[in-house]
Amino acid sequence: MHSISRRLSLFFIACTIASILLVTLTVNLTVTNKFNQYMMDIQNKRYERIIAYFEDAYKKDGRLTENTGVELMHEAYMGNYCITLRDQHEQTIWGMDPKEIQNQLNMGTMPVQQKGVYTTKTFKLNEEDKVVGYVDIGQYSSVLLTEEDQNFKSSINKSIIASGLLTLLIITGLSLYFSKQFSSPIKEVAKLSVDLSKGNFNSKSVVKSNIHELEDLRKSVNILAGKLQFQDMLRQRLISDISHEIRTPLNVLQNNLEAMIDGVYPVTQEKLHYLNEEVIRFGRLINNLNVLKEFESESTKLSYEIIELEQLLLELCRDFHAPSEKKKLKIDLAIQPDKKFSITGDKDKIKQVFVNLLANAIKFTTAGGRILVQLYEKNDDITVEVVDTGIGINKEDLPFIFERLYRGDKSRQEIEGNGIGLTIVKNILQLHDASIEAESEEGIGSKFTICFPNIKKP
Ligand code: ADP
Repeated sequence: MHSISRRLSLFFIACTIASILLVTLTVNLTVTNKFNQYMMDIQNKRYERIIAYFEDAYKKDGRLTENTGVELMHEAYMGNYCITLRDQHEQTIWGMDPKEIQNQLNMGTMPVQQKGVYTTKTFKLNEEDKVVGYVDIGQYSSVLLTEEDQNFKSSINKSIIASGLLTLLIITGLSLYFSKQFSSPIKEVAKLSVDLSKGNFNSKSVVKSNIHELEDLRKSVNILAGKLQFQDMLRQRLISDISHEIRTPLNVLQNNLEAMIDGVYPVTQEKLHYLNEEVIRFGRLINNLNVLKEFESESTKLSYEIIELEQLLLELCRDFHAPSEKKKLKIDLAIQPDKKFSITGDKDKIKQVFVNLLANAIKFTTAGGRILVQLYEKNDDITVEVVDTGIGINKEDLPFIFERLYRGDKSRQEIEGNGIGLTIVKNILQLHDASIEAESEEGIGSKFTICFPNIKKP
């Protein structure tokens, strides 16, 4: 198995080598073709120039002699080609020896493209549409190249190879850099998931990536780690809460029963009543856990009907009037006028939501406080607010109050409760596609806002 960075680097380098080879081949073929074409043109022009030279000489002298065009011999010799001049009867007037050219080529003073078979081309010399002679031009290669031509060609090839190697070098560096950009965050996230699987929930991935998908992955795994850490904390707290709840009544029972057995305490009606209270408290805890289980199971059945919220809240506020009076609290209901607030839902369960919220508001508000229930429409959603001027919830507890058996530190110490009221509220609202949010400030009060989406309206 390869690492992702190695695999990516190898892939980039292989792609680069393939493209360099392809480019080199294409450029080389194109340059060679174009260059040969260019040389052919030059060669044809040279032929035309030589023919024109002989024809001019004939025009001037009226005949072809041994001296006609001998000046061209030097140029021909230097250019590695042979000239032979023949009259109209094809008899040689003068000619160069191809062997001399071959010797010169063998000495390598003038490189040619191919040192091949000696070939000759014959051209007619015309004077007013009459053939007056022939000129043969022979050479050892199809195209004649001078040293400069050869140098030009090889310098192009060298530059192609050099630029290929340079590209390869740059691509290797870049591919190592970019593949590291991919692999580092992936490695980090992989390491983090291993940590999480080992139960180290406080690990975090800190290496940021500028690649969108990788950064999203890193963030979501960090969120996952946070959630797992949170769940772990809740689990530990739940265990300690449950064991505390179980231990207290058990201790009371055990101590009292032992004292009765030892004869320290008399077995009186009053004592037995007290012990029975503890057994009931114990049973209540088990019942609460059962209630939660019922709400959290997917099989919870809802019987839907149209609920008129204004009517329901009016009845509830009336019901809670007496308990709030008892605690010297004022309870008010404010309904947005000229509107109907009907939703479709399970009436008993929705009633349970408000009962739990109002019971909490009364429980956590001290004498002289106020509870306000508001019903209004906002952004086409039906909103219910339960606001109190109670003890409030501290910042540390606020994110957890909807969790199972979670009780704020204050209420754990001073106020009776079981920590399932708000969990049930949240579960019921979720079943109705509604949401709940809590805002609170310690010592000032709390506000619970429920939002029923408009689609639930009948
Ligand atoms: P319980 O009230 O039985 O403890 P809940 O699930 O109803 O359980 O509430 C969870 C916790 O949220 C409470 O223990 C308390 O700390 C906090 N809480 C809920 N409602 C209020 C409120 N109106 N004012 C202050 N604290 C509240």
